[in-house]
Amino acid sequence: MQIDAFPRVALAHLPTPLEHMPRLTEHLGGPDIFVKRDDCTGLATGGNKTRKLEFSMGEAMSRGADTIITVGAIQSNHVRQTAAAACKLEMACEVLLEHRVGHPSETYTSSGNVLLDRIFAANLREYPGGTNFDAAMAMVADEVSANGGTPYIVPGGASNSVGALGYVGCGIELLQQFNEQGLAIDHLVTATGSAGTHAGLAVGIRGSGSDLPILGFGVNAAQDVQEERVYSLASETAELVDAPGCVRREDIVADCNYIGSGYGVPTAAMNEAVLMLARLEGLLFDPVYSGKALAGMIDYVRQGRFEKGQKIVFLHTGGSAGLFAYADTLRL
Ligand SMILES: *Cc1c(COP(=O)(O)O)cnc(C)c1O
Repeated sequence: MQIDAFPRVALAHLPTPLEHMPRLTEHLGGPDIFVKRDDCTGLATGGNKTRKLEFSMGEAMSRGADTIITVGAIQSNHVRQTAAAACKLEMACEVLLEHRVGHPSETYTSSGNVLLDRIFAANLREYPGGTNFDAAMAMVADEVSANGGTPYIVPGGASNSVGALGYVGCGIELLQQFNEQGLAIDHLVTATGSAGTHAGLAVGIRGSGSDLPILGFGVNAAQDVQEERVYSLASETAELVDAPGCVRREDIVADCNYIGSGYGVPTAAMNEAVLMLARLEGLLFDPVYSGKALAGMIDYVRQGRFEKGQKIVFLHTGGSAGLFAYADTLRL
């Protein structure tokens, strides 16, 4: 398995720390819980998209692009990190923002990530939910070309096989950290959305010969849809790194029971999880992804599905900038 051969630009602070969470562990009275701090990747308040963008932007640079085109929800963490990367690499950034959450509040449409997108001078275009974004991004690319620019499209969440290389690297990095710290980990837990994180981790970990179980907590789709999405991207990514077939279908497990009424819609369990981690560990999670995944992990411990004596690692994918946009809905 080889990721060094792909075009890459340095954007992230790596390796990110792997830390124990003693107060959360004690509070829940179950397994030892660790956190992989990908909220500390460093770019524009950090998060998981930065690792992926090292490869997406690397490919864009190698193709001579001067304008990045991408898509996300209004409060997309991916768009915020892409807009920042484009600034750093002296590129323009055209953003297609999807109105994915019904009846957004004033803070939702103006604060948090979207405020940062504006600070990074991204050109924001808004579209209704359900737009065909492949077609819409192709139209923007034509417009950029017609004006003499060289566009490069980064898909939503940078979740194609190129972006997923960032999480192949994270999987390898985690195994090295377990080794260095003498940790025998029983389960890796992550939020899973556009699937690049989960797929890349599976390839990095299985491709290194480890059978560490990986559990993704879904944030938008039903279980069968999410697992297929992750499996298909993992298979494609495995081919790209010359480890075809290293991930089997049964390696991909997503639990989609903690979404609540929809993508980006707060749940009581998410609210409890975000406040719990803040008040016990001084850590900030987010309402859309990591907060719902945490709610899932906490429930697994309470149900005894993760037990005392085990060691669990929760991948912190970042997103705390989104908290400001949800100020009205967090029950404080
Ligand atoms: C995008 C995102 C995720 C999900 O990662 P995918 O690779 O899209 O599955 C999880 N957490 C946060 C904070 C994110 O921004």
